[in-house]
Amino acid sequence: MIYQKLKDIQSDLFSGKLTLPELVGQYLKTIEENTHLNAFLEVFSEEAKIRAIEVESKLSAGNAGKLAGMVIGIKDNICYKDHRVSASSKILDGFVSEYSSTVVERLLEQDAIIIGRLNCDEFAMGASNENSAFGPVLNFADSTRVSGGSSGGAAVSVQAGMCLASLGSDTGGSIRQPASFCGLYGFKPTYGKISRWGLIAYASSFDIIGPITQSIEDMQLLMDVIAGPDDYDATASQVKSESFSEFLLENKKHKFAYIKETLEADGVESAVKEATEKLIEKLKSEGHMVEPISFDLLPSLIPVYYTLTTAEASSNLSRFAGMHYGFRSNSAVDLETTIKNSRSEGFGPEVKRRIMLGTFVLSAGYYDAYYSKAQKVRRLVQDRTASIFESYDFILSPTSPTTAFKIGEKSDNPIAMYLADIFTVHANIAGVPALTIPNGVDSNGMPIGFQIMANSGEDAKLLSLAKSLF
Ligand code: GLN
Repeated sequence: MIYQKLKDIQSDLFSGKLTLPELVGQYLKTIEENTHLNAFLEVFSEEAKIRAIEVESKLSAGNAGKLAGMVIGIKDNICYKDHRVSASSKILDGFVSEYSSTVVERLLEQDAIIIGRLNCDEFAMGASNENSAFGPVLNFADSTRVSGGSSGGAAVSVQAGMCLASLGSDTGGSIRQPASFCGLYGFKPTYGKISRWGLIAYASSFDIIGPITQSIEDMQLLMDVIAGPDDYDATASQVKSESFSEFLLENKKHKFAYIKETLEADGVESAVKEATEKLIEKLKSEGHMVEPISFDLLPSLIPVYYTLTTAEASSNLSRFAGMHYGFRSNSAVDLETTIKNSRSEGFGPEVKRRIMLGTFVLSAGYYDAYYSKAQKVRRLVQDRTASIFESYDFILSPTSPTTAFKIGEKSDNPIAMYLADIFTVHANIAGVPALTIPNGVDSNGMPIGFQIMANSGEDAKLLSLAKSLF
């Protein structure tokens, strides 16, 4: 029996139709049957079985937390005390977390069961999971195709029924794009809505953790648990988070804008375009206002994103020097060879490319031409986006211009790969929340997704809209 919602699991647990050890056993079996998909880097089998017995007894005693019955996977860049974490990189070989991330603490407090750590692109840099040091994740709908990335394992684990939900991270689309490639819901909250404490940093002013689920209800429940202020993260919003599950959406017709270039751009597959147009027609026929707008900064989004995120990455990743964490080169004999050889051998090619690019855009001679210019365009994107939200409630677009592509199809062409993020990076640059929702399949049966963005801080409203309309 494959469950899609926590509510159904909980009702079977309460009625005695199911026990938690049975449920965990089912997930472990599904994981075993699907090892070829390469979604898990490590399965916490024994521990999950023990937790199942513990939570089961809390359920009988009537004092279990809100997430009792939720079996969840975490992306391999989210720290869990006394567990390995590697960001899918060789450079963190053997490293064990000394503390848990805030999200993990909060999940455990509410009795979720964490079943394993999930494969991803190395340091969350990628859009296909092919940059993992541990190999690509295969799409469950067609194993010759990519999972999407960087949270590929987080998406496929849920798609294939290996866990009910997962947590990923999204710097430029890494939750939404793989969720869309796998026919799931994926949410990138407003920047700062969820603590980044214990998330391995890629680009700190963009990074955010978020859930991948099979239903909006579970998304709301998870957000209720993990969102909110945190003393350990000064960039987390200090405002107490509203209740996602109980948020009441105004009963009115909504105003949607869609950026017309997102449907007209070269490279948008016709099935994706048609599915989005169909959705627009449906919303209109239900009485909502849906209007095309122009966003002339669209061509600048990818350059701005890659200038700023690589700059931040070059700084964040400087701590991996063969000294404190994980891997040290066998050929290291002094300070210089320790740093140089450990970094050369420990990082994969995409990570090296980004460190070099980021170091270049921050270098004294080029700082103004690239880094500081990109910061200015970032501000323009934020201002323009805010002004769209003065006239509209939501912005609609496809999540990705294509459905899941073939493994290897784009791996030699970084620019083609970077364009996979063209519609998702907008929300990260502007800091606003964005959700991907399943929107049918193409002629190959591959899932299509569409994205809705809302104004900054309107996360609960966005999820509530999704629940009522789609
Ligand atoms: N694909 C984008 C990148 O490679 C987004 C990654 C992410 O959101 N972590 O940077």
